[in-house]
Amino acid sequence: MKHIFNISAAVTGYTKVFGIFGKPISHSLSPQMHLAAFQSLGLPCIYLPFEVDPRHLKKAVGSVVPLGLQGLNITIPHKQSVLGLLDELDPAAAKIGAVNTIEIRSGRLIGHNTDGKGYLASLYENNIDPGGMPVILVGAGGAARGVAVTLLFAGVSDMTIMARNLKKGEALAGDLGALSPKSKVSAVSIEKVQTISKDGPLLLINTTPLGMDEKDPFPFPPSQIGPGWIVSDLIYDPYETPLLLAAKKIGARTIPGLGMLLHQGVLAFEIWTKEKPPVDVMRKTLLKALTTLKN
Ligand code: NAP
Repeated sequence: MKHIFNISAAVTGYTKVFGIFGKPISHSLSPQMHLAAFQSLGLPCIYLPFEVDPRHLKKAVGSVVPLGLQGLNITIPHKQSVLGLLDELDPAAAKIGAVNTIEIRSGRLIGHNTDGKGYLASLYENNIDPGGMPVILVGAGGAARGVAVTLLFAGVSDMTIMARNLKKGEALAGDLGALSPKSKVSAVSIEKVQTISKDGPLLLINTTPLGMDEKDPFPFPPSQIGPGWIVSDLIYDPYETPLLLAAKKIGARTIPGLGMLLHQGVLAFEIWTKEKPPVDVMRKTLLKALTTLKN
């Protein structure tokens, strides 16, 4: 086994168990992040990765209360399919149509979505208020939907979705427009990039996986980025994607995806424990885990 870490807090009969359901799950950094947070606050809790095949999701979710699990994260490919298996949805999760966090309250499973709010928190911690800024969202998948819904409710009123699959982009734009009728939401194909003005300010968000592999093409041509733009990427590994490095050279501000990963975890931790999460400990743990992955 390549990645070994110590659980220094002893596991006893009093230990409370949290975890994450997904498949694949071995890449997840959430166990390290939450274990470090529990340890830092001296809470008698552990956090475990559960590789749950889609065929077993219903049974796995059905076992959460009988086994006494205390809180869960949900990741790919279950964020949407878990919806129908829960007792209640938080309004944000219902609007987004996906769940990444389950709270267990009096034996009831309550679905939350902290992905979009985590993204927004990563902007706020950099003193960026996206309200009033035009936004270009590249990609139209699950993460794009969570981020877009949250941004619209944070005051963004002009959003362009650029997707390789225009139909998918238009479907997302239609859903978003229905949720926020006063906002201007449209979809354009990625080939229309030349028509976008470079004059800032503008918030560009890459929600595609392009940039995870060094051989990937850019998700958005750097030559079209303006120096007054804010360019963010949801990808957290590498910490700075080629898009962010190119945008930095142009003079744009850049926001790496690690902040979203951190803050979706911070918000989940708060929901489960009602404690103030040790944000710096969680951030340092993620940065260290990313460095370890490289070596
Ligand atoms: P997803 O649902 O599969 O959506 C991916 C989107 O990217 C789709 O619109 C897809 O287009 C598009 N895409 C994929 N390959 C592409 C390519 N070669 N060229 C152009 N577009 C392409 O995935 P997701 O869950 O939204 O995740 C997207 C990214 O966000 C991943 O890199 C993930 O790691 C990251 N993420 C980060 C965080 C965080 O905490 N920082 C949280 C969630 C996700 P099609 O629909 O045409 O396939």
